[in-house]
Amino acid sequence: VAKDGKNGNICYCGPGMLDHVKRRFKVIDVLKDALTQGGFQVYYQPIWSVEKQCFTLAESLLRLPSTPLGPLYPSEFIPIAEETGLIVDITYYVLDTVCRFVHDLLESGVTMLESVTVNFSGVQFSQHNPAEKVISIIESHGIPYRMIKIEITESVLAESRQELEEFIDLMHAKGVEVSLDDFGTGYCNLVSVLSMDVDVIKLDKSLLWAAQKDQKTAIMMKSLSRSVHELGMRVVSEGVETDEQRAFAEECCCDWIQGYYYAKPMPGKDAKRFLTERIEKS
Ligand code: C2E
Ligand code: MG
Ligand code: MG
Ligand code: MG
Repeated sequence: VAKDGKNGNICYCGPGMLDHVKRRFKVIDVLKDALTQGGFQVYYQPIWSVEKQCFTLAESLLRLPSTPLGPLYPSEFIPIAEETGLIVDITYYVLDTVCRFVHDLLESGVTMLESVTVNFSGVQFSQHNPAEKVISIIESHGIPYRMIKIEITESVLAESRQELEEFIDLMHAKGVEVSLDDFGTGYCNLVSVLSMDVDVIKLDKSLLWAAQKDQKTAIMMKSLSRSVHELGMRVVSEGVETDEQRAFAEECCCDWIQGYYYAKPMPGKDAKRFLTERIEKS
């Protein structure tokens, strides 16, 4: 017997569902332990600037490399962290770690890096004044505010538009830019998305990959990128794995390119070495 997640009805479940529920409880325990005992690792994926021809951004991506369940991936643990509200503390843990990483890079003389991005869950907006918390964490590390960018997704827009607008205003007041992640995965209508006061639009990899196969999507992606620029925002193309995809992203006039073609997500130590070496050469 189990409770139906949505409306609390009692229902009977088969063995498959029981395994699923058991696994979920185990993952919750892993997440709680990781928070209190430090099992999370923040990885960084360097992002290529087409204009500057070097890596000027990096995205922070959370990893759980060794748990009693083996390595866990964001596709599994982020939704569970969101459902249980654990994501709130996890996000601030990531932000704190990223600020320390940035501080370390600045001390090592890495100057080409513009910012490191932090993924911000929609659940964050159910909390009182998330902007204040973000500001206080950045401030506590004494790094320039512009070194952090916050990534939000279209789903936030659908659920908490007003909170989001206030958040963006408070971020801008300090010089923290906001990116819209996973654009093109289709939660909201185009006009409401493009009317948001965000600084950067990240075109989802599914859009790029579809554009490879379909001429109409390719035309759409080019004109989307043009519109985004005309609206005063900049564009990142995600999921670039091949030289052909890189060329297409450049044809779309994307400002930045993110993908395995340039760099995979890597632990902080490796990312520091990667960014330092690449910058010395350029
Ligand atoms: P995202 O924010 O859209 O991050 C980009 C994802 O694409 C990452 O997956 C990255 O490893 C992957 N990626 C980058 N380049 C390529 C490529 O060329 N090819 C392919 N196939 N994939 C590429 P990852 O790390 O598994 O994260 C998945 C999602 O989990 C993220 O999507 C984000 O929504 C969420 N996530 C990860 N870390 C965090 C976090 O710290 N906080 C929150 N709230 N969400 C996170
Ligand atoms: Mg992201
Ligand atoms: Mg993304
Ligand atoms: Mg994505």
